[in-house]
Amino acid sequence: MTGPPQRFSSGVDRLWFSSAGRSTRRAVKQAADLILPTWCVGCGAAGADLCAECSIDIRLLTRCPFRAEGAAEALPVTDVDDAGVQVLPVTSAGFYKTLVADVVVAFKDHERVGLKRVLAPALARSVRAAAERTLSTADPLLVWPPTSARAQLRRGRSPVEELVTAAALPAGLEPAGAVLRRKSGGMLSVTGRRGQKGRSKGGRRAAVAQFTMAAGVPRSLVGREALLVDDVLTTGATLHGMYAALTEAGVHVRGAAVLAVTPRAGKAQDTSLSAANLR
Ligand SMILES: [Zn+2]
Repeated sequence: MTGPPQRFSSGVDRLWFSSAGRSTRRAVKQAADLILPTWCVGCGAAGADLCAECSIDIRLLTRCPFRAEGAAEALPVTDVDDAGVQVLPVTSAGFYKTLVADVVVAFKDHERVGLKRVLAPALARSVRAAAERTLSTADPLLVWPPTSARAQLRRGRSPVEELVTAAALPAGLEPAGAVLRRKSGGMLSVTGRRGQKGRSKGGRRAAVAQFTMAAGVPRSLVGREALLVDDVLTTGATLHGMYAALTEAGVHVRGAAVLAVTPRAGKAQDTSLSAANLR
């Protein structure tokens, strides 16, 4: 028999895990962060989520975007010619290690939402460099991956979309985040950091087929140029999935911009980004 106390606690559970409950908890946490002392994600100094010195360091670590497609083994092949196999060109603002990794993780997973003030300009630098490197038309699309249901449930927010929205984007680039959706049940079993070499052929195919065009996307996208954007490049499987869905729909994906690349994926890259290096 269910007495009033049990009924009360199951009601609290329902409220706690409801979307209204989640947003209330987030609002309370954010309000508490404003009142309570906080500390620097980089050096632990009290006072701000990122102190002045660490804010300068982040800018230094992300100030020169570079070619990052090097060893990301799951990127799509875009051309095979005399020069060899060409993969989708990816530009990154920084390496996903040390302070950059700490700040990205704090922003994405630890609700340090204020850190977008340093991450959005870094992403904007990467997008600008990628656009100059790869785009040729006046009205290209900027497409980012839809948040997975699991990540949406866990975080209740979409960090990449927040950064794109806060970034000063090059003129003419049209944010088009809603054009892709995730196929249900697709990617979960084949993602991870194992990389493509450890995957079966079927696993690789599933990774590529993780996205589809959202219902109701206008036909006017056909023939448009697009630049992909994401937060971290690891194997390139996410970018490959986006590339496959958009290409099948007739969109010309020219390249991608990321905030940071894992050192393994970006290894063997010349990190200077002179104009010559970008061609
Ligand atoms: Zn600091």
